[in-house]
Amino acid sequence: AMRHLPYFCRGEVVKGFGRGFRELGIPTANFSEQVVESFPSDLSTGVYCGWACVGNGDVRKMVLSIGWNPFYKNIKKSVETHIIHTFKDDFYGEILSIVITGYIRPEKNFSSSEALISAIQEDIEEAKRQLDLPEHLKLKEDNFFRLPEGKTVNH
Ligand code: ADP
Ligand code: MG
Repeated sequence: AMRHLPYFCRGEVVKGFGRGFRELGIPTANFSEQVVESFPSDLSTGVYCGWACVGNGDVRKMVLSIGWNPFYKNIKKSVETHIIHTFKDDFYGEILSIVITGYIRPEKNFSSSEALISAIQEDIEEAKRQLDLPEHLKLKEDNFFRLPEGKTVNH
């Protein structure tokens, strides 16, 4: 899971599949199928942490899930970013830039939405801790977040 990190990615925020994360209080900004397909196929499913920026807004902490997409009968992946920040409005159609800096845990199935929510709350706490470490913090300042759109660079 770690071999490809840090992983830089930029793409438009598209509509998800209405899994109702927003109602659970945990909205996830979804990347398009094309962007998901550009990910290394051996970047394992699971929960990751890193930095995210909407348009040319502030760079903020995020947790990211790479998961099997039930909408496509689990043959395609979905990549969803929850930015650890409360936004006033939705940002569908905006360009989301992310760098994935750390791995948190493998993908899991949950028996209830309560169990899912509490797992995500723990992921968020773990992400906050990891992202305060110097090797993660330095990527918050990466030039990637200050480059014009389209110049997607993976090192
Ligand atoms: P969808 O199924 O369309 O992805 P979600 O319930 O997952 O719907 O909500 C995702 C949308 O919520 C994002 O596309 C974005 O426009 C908005 N949003 C608002 N706050 C956040 C946030 N903190 N992190 C991610 N997305 C957010
Ligand atoms: Mg979503």
